Parts: sequence; structure tokens; C-alpha cells
Amino acid sequence: MADLSQSAWITSLIEDFIANNPENNLENQTGEKAFENPLVGFAGGDDALFEDYKTHVGPFHWTPLEIFRITFPESRIEAGELTVISWILPQTSRTCADNRKQNRFPAERWVRARVFGEKINENIRLYLIRRLEGKGIQAVAPILSPLWSREISPQYGYASKWSERHAAYAAGLGTFGLCNGLITERGKAMRTGSVVARYRIPPSPRPYKNHNAYCLFFAKGSCGKCIGRCPAGAISEKGHDKEKCKTHTRGEILLGYIKENYGFEGPAKKGCGLCQTKVPCENRNPVRIQKNADCGTGQLDVH
Ligand code: SF4
Ligand code: SF4
Repeated sequence: MADLSQSAWITSLIEDFIANNPENNLENQTGEKAFENPLVGFAGGDDALFEDYKTHVGPFHWTPLEIFRITFPESRIEAGELTVISWILPQTSRTCADNRKQNRFPAERWVRARVFGEKINENIRLYLIRRLEGKGIQAVAPILSPLWSREISPQYGYASKWSERHAAYAAGLGTFGLCNGLITERGKAMRTGSVVARYRIPPSPRPYKNHNAYCLFFAKGSCGKCIGRCPAGAISEKGHDKEKCKTHTRGEILLGYIKENYGFEGPAKKGCGLCQTKVPCENRNPVRIQKNADCGTGQLDVH
């Protein structure tokens, strides 16, 4: 199989899952779909960014090779044989429209997309692994590893051994905003997932110069709309205060509100998403960068 058909095959598996699999639904009365058409990108297992993450996020953050060797200890493998397959699942326009109206707590569709949508995201990971294994290709979803855990980053506070957003950044799918969300060509109202496979696929280009390139605040010195959207005062010109965000989004008041108003539990450890909606980067990249022109390396440029 040629390189192009390898990436096309993987992309079509993820796209078909979202387009045709009945699992892609919000589990509400009408069974409406949870996510729009996905974006898919690829990063080389030997991409230097993954070593950079150890410096910037913390030494606990796995490289693709580390999680692969942990999962398949018998395999003799080099980082360059691996590919990180990453995808973006954009929230639907109805989910975003509902959350735009909210000022303190997330809308029901938003919560459903976080609770039931994450099950879909998990099932995409498992489905991809099955399809790859069907061709004799070993693959692992780092976030589903029993050894994956939350960690504390010396620089960024709450972190984990594998960040889906950092995998997506490496795969050319978007850059970070002032509120810490990943802004993609379909905006930052989305979920993201990844799988590491022993499968060589050409890496996707990273059409940005630094890790904040798609945020108007960093690129143009304007916007800051997510600051006013946060009901917890967790976003400022200094960035995202994870502790304040956590207090609001994991607090009993929010959980009680969800149970009382929507009739189900959760999300236990998720954001309220208000900063992801009713902002210029909700469903698009607000800083249009001409692709294939003036492309940067996408290396981390920490402010
Ligand atoms: S709302 Fe504006 S400042 Fe906040 S992340 Fe989006 S583009 Fe950046
Ligand atoms: S998820 Fe909610 S609480 Fe957290 S930063 Fe965004 S708006 Fe604020």
C-alpha cells in the first residue's frame, strides 16, 4: 500500500465511523449525532516535539515510543517506525448554539457530548486498533492504557502522561488559545483523540509558526473574549487558571445542576465549555494562515 493510501485509509475509517456508525449519537430522545465530520492528522513517532513535551509539560509525559514499548514490551522497535494518528471531533452546530446561550452552566447537549461523546471517542480508538490489528499492525491508545494517569506539571499544573491536545498539535491539527483549548480549522468546540500505531504514514504539515498561532490574543493582540465567557474567572490575559476552572467544573453545584436539570450524572471531571462557545474561535480558526506559504516548523515557542 502506498503512503497516500495509508493515510487515506485511516482517515476514511474515522470519517466513516462518524458518518455512519449509530454510536455517534447524544443518547437523547431523537438520537441526534454527537459530532460533525472529523479532521485527521498524523505525526511521526520520532517527532522532536514529543521530547520537547517532556521539558515543557513534564518528564512523565510519554513519547510515542515509550507508551508503545510499555504496551508491547517484546517488540524491538525504533521511534521512526511509529505514527501518532490524531483526530478532531467538532461539536455540532446545535450543541454550540445551545451552549452559547448559557452563562454559568453548560447546556444539556454540551454535557451529553462530554459524557456520551467521550464514549464515542473511546470507541473510535478501540475500532481503529481493531482495524489495524486486522492487518497485523500493533497499535495502542495511550489514554486507554491502564498506566495512563493524571500528573502535576511543574509549569502547567494539572497534566497527564499523554495529552490528546498535544498529540493533535504535533499532528498539525491546531494550536493553543489563551484559554488553553486547542483551536483547529473547525474551532475549539471539539473533542480529540489519538492512537499510536506501528505504521509509517507521512506526517501532516504543521501550518503554524508557534503553539499560539491561531489565537487572536497572541497573533494580533486582540480578542480576549474567552476571558469574559468564563463564569469562574479562570481566564485572564495571563492564561488559564486550572485550579479555578476545576473548582467550578468539578464542583458539587455544577454536578447537582446537571443531575437535577438533565437527569443524568456527570461530567465528573470535565469543563463547562462556556469558553469554547460564543467566541471567535468556537467553530473556525480566527487567524487565517495561508497554507503552504510561510509555513513554520511548529516547534514549541513558549512565552
Ligand atoms: S476567544 Fe479569542 S483570546 Fe480566547 S482563545 Fe479564542 S481567539 Fe484566543
Ligand atoms: S471550562 Fe468553564 S470554568 Fe473552565 S475555563 Fe472554560 S469557561 Fe471557565
